[in-house]
Amino acid sequence: MPGGHDQTLRPFLWRAENLYADTEIVSRNHDGMQRYTYGEYADRAAKLANALDEHGIEQGDRVATFCWNTSRHFETYFAVPTIGAQLHTINPLLPDDHIRFIVDNADDELVFVDPSLAEKLAGAAADSEEFEGVDFVLMGEEVPEGIDAVAYEEFIADQPTDYDWPDIDEDQPAGMCYTSGTTGRPKGVEYTHQMLWSHTMATLTPQGIPMADDDVVMPVVPMFHVNAWGMPFTATAGGSKHVYPGPSPEPEDIASLIEEEGVTVTAGVPTVWLGLMDYCKENDVDLSTLDTVIVGGSAAPESMIRWFDDRGVELLHAWGMTEMSPIGSVSHLKGNLEDEAYDTQVEKRAKQGIMVPGLEFKVIDEDGERIEWDGEEFGELYVRGPWVTKEYFQRPEANEEDFEDGWLKTGDVVTVDPDGYLKIVDRAKDVIKSGGEWISSVELENAIMAHDDVAEATVIGVPHEKWQERPVAFVVPGEDADRDTLVDEVYDMLREDYPKWWLPDDIEFIEEVPKTATGKFSKKDLREEYADQSLVEGNVPEDAAPESDD
Ligand code: AMP
Repeated sequence: MPGGHDQTLRPFLWRAENLYADTEIVSRNHDGMQRYTYGEYADRAAKLANALDEHGIEQGDRVATFCWNTSRHFETYFAVPTIGAQLHTINPLLPDDHIRFIVDNADDELVFVDPSLAEKLAGAAADSEEFEGVDFVLMGEEVPEGIDAVAYEEFIADQPTDYDWPDIDEDQPAGMCYTSGTTGRPKGVEYTHQMLWSHTMATLTPQGIPMADDDVVMPVVPMFHVNAWGMPFTATAGGSKHVYPGPSPEPEDIASLIEEEGVTVTAGVPTVWLGLMDYCKENDVDLSTLDTVIVGGSAAPESMIRWFDDRGVELLHAWGMTEMSPIGSVSHLKGNLEDEAYDTQVEKRAKQGIMVPGLEFKVIDEDGERIEWDGEEFGELYVRGPWVTKEYFQRPEANEEDFEDGWLKTGDVVTVDPDGYLKIVDRAKDVIKSGGEWISSVELENAIMAHDDVAEATVIGVPHEKWQERPVAFVVPGEDADRDTLVDEVYDMLREDYPKWWLPDDIEFIEEVPKTATGKFSKKDLREEYADQSLVEGNVPEDAAPESDD
């Protein structure tokens, strides 16, 4: 039943505005540093809410963002859901075709766009039916000539600074994010107010990722990835100072924001922290304010934990999923392990961790049995809980595959040790995660096999020091193929439809793709062969490797 007591985002905004009106929100925006307080933030969120009303946005409508981590983006985080509309954060790194599908599938009415991403979005939107009727707001003071949008500051300029935030049913969708699956189109996950509320409350517990009023919180993880792992909500609920690192932050930007703003809690994928560690080799960076660095999205190496330990900073390894709002487990050291040897502790902390309070899990082996918690047996991890989605948006066939009796099947293959620590040992889903972003190996294979002179192709992820994983393609050339030109032709073809970071780091010729007994491509042998090798050399064109994040 709707009512003021429901589990919604509104009380978090209310608390920050009324208890911490002077606490700062700092942002490296494209037009320079922006610095204001929760008091001013609440005024601007109210102005935005009024502007959305005036634009005709109603309860249940979807409003999208195509933005980096900035304070303006953060204003949409509360204003949109708290009027009863739904905030859909789009990942700008996706291939254009995925972006068109997502905007159409979510039926977005209005898109807030970061100026540095306007060209990318215009490319995806050009001549596309999917974008018909969609309006754009450019996140800045003014709109350069030739762009059909209204400037954000103009959009909110004449609006009142108060808003009568309505009572909202906790089951009302507040947010939405798409995740890329093994095959087919990206799948939408809707976050209700209740899911975001319970995720925030669990994150605030000591076994989550607590953020309090003496913390300075900097989400480096993009705000288009599951609400920057929920940090903007948790930091607001806790009354922390926020620091937003802006468009494509480089290690030097991250280092200087930590130093200048006194960041205490920050979060990102391993690639981000490897970049910072590398930067610190050449530069004298003061990390003394940092208490906690959260690393997740891909596995964190033990060496990273030790590096931060040596500097008095706790590296917390966390595991989660888009479907889980996203936090599942965090690798806190349990009390009974405090007297263990340092090496044993680090080994534990490098695992994906223990479930945060509020969730349940089970691990099912190939015979459908629950595994022993002995750190040896393994199986697929299933989870359930208040902030785990129960279905995908309009995708009955995916629901059938990925949910069972109220449990989400994660596609992660894990062991559990007697202390309850999860360790991911394999992935049941055929996808590659590179620098925190998904690449569908099946989609790449199909794209490569579309070339007339390719008989068969398979794509696997190989370990990579900086990006954790990179795709490598194995191609069986057709009988009439010109082997001297085929690789270049395949790269040219892929470049037309995929961003640079999707291109395989190498394309190798093989005589046959290994198959399973049922005729499916068997990648196990290839993965084992390349597991311990750095990337195969040979055919890599200079621009294939993703040396930048574009
Ligand atoms: P996403 O939905 O994009 O957040 O991706 C979720 C998936 O990323 C999980 O199912 C895992 O396969 C992987 N993942 C997330 N966190 C970790 C981690 N700490 N270690 C290893 N893999 C992870």
